[in-house]
Amino acid sequence: MPPPEKTFYCIFLGPPGSGKGTQAKKIIDIHHVFHLSTGDLLREMAATGTELGKKVKGIMDKGELVSNDVMFAILEKKLLSPECKHGVIFDGFPRNIAQAQELDKMMTKLQKKLSCVIEFKVPDENLIGRITGRLIHEPSGRTYHIKNNPPKVPMKDDVTGEPLIQRPDDNVKVLEERLKVYHSQTKPLIEFYSNPAHKGLLKVVIASKPLDQVFKDVEDILKSLP
Ligand code: ADP
Ligand code: AMP
Repeated sequence: MPPPEKTFYCIFLGPPGSGKGTQAKKIIDIHHVFHLSTGDLLREMAATGTELGKKVKGIMDKGELVSNDVMFAILEKKLLSPECKHGVIFDGFPRNIAQAQELDKMMTKLQKKLSCVIEFKVPDENLIGRITGRLIHEPSGRTYHIKNNPPKVPMKDDVTGEPLIQRPDDNVKVLEERLKVYHSQTKPLIEFYSNPAHKGLLKVVIASKPLDQVFKDVEDILKSLP
């Protein structure tokens, strides 16, 4: 694949179901940067069935956060790989202040700079319908919605025709825990990325708008990057 015209390292920050993964997949079709979804990487790890995989799955199924040590190892391995050389959309990372500080260190080590942090703003009450109607194609991480973004053939991936599944953590009870974790541990990152050391990085999109409108708003932000 040719290197992208524009290189950027951008964090998509928002609660579960706010549309980060959906928009990231649309953006990488255009910009060819790497979509680094820690949720997808952890689901791959869980599927291996190793001791660590089983432990990770147990944590994800409860809606809690996987330990920072495991996350730092995953991040380092990925960020150093050639696929991340021409830019990254960070989707689901960082999720707490320690992870954000680690990302700052890694970027400095790589002599790269964060280009932007896009907050996907959406009220909690919009998220139940999005999460309980979400369908995913596990091998690729492609995401659909039963009503808002249905696949062409019911329960089949548009690209491969393979079956779609519902994530085990996409239910009302686990969503409650995930939202609690978001508000207590991840939302403080909005303040973190507003501090003078990260001046000008934080942008906001209203993610309760229809999919195509959110896409346009994200694209406008990315286009405005130097
Ligand atoms: P996240 O990656 O932030 O957890 P997703 O991108 O997987 O969220 O989106 C969650 C669900 O909501 C998916 O089923 C997706 O199709 C749907 N969705 C995403 N963006 C919108 C939107 N703007 N309007 C309506 N539904 C949306
Ligand atoms: P996501 O696919 O982003 O909704 O993430 C699914 C689950 O994976 C979360 O509920 C957490 O259990 C775990 N997870 C994903 N990213 C991280 C992260 N950066 N730190 C800790 N746990 C994570």
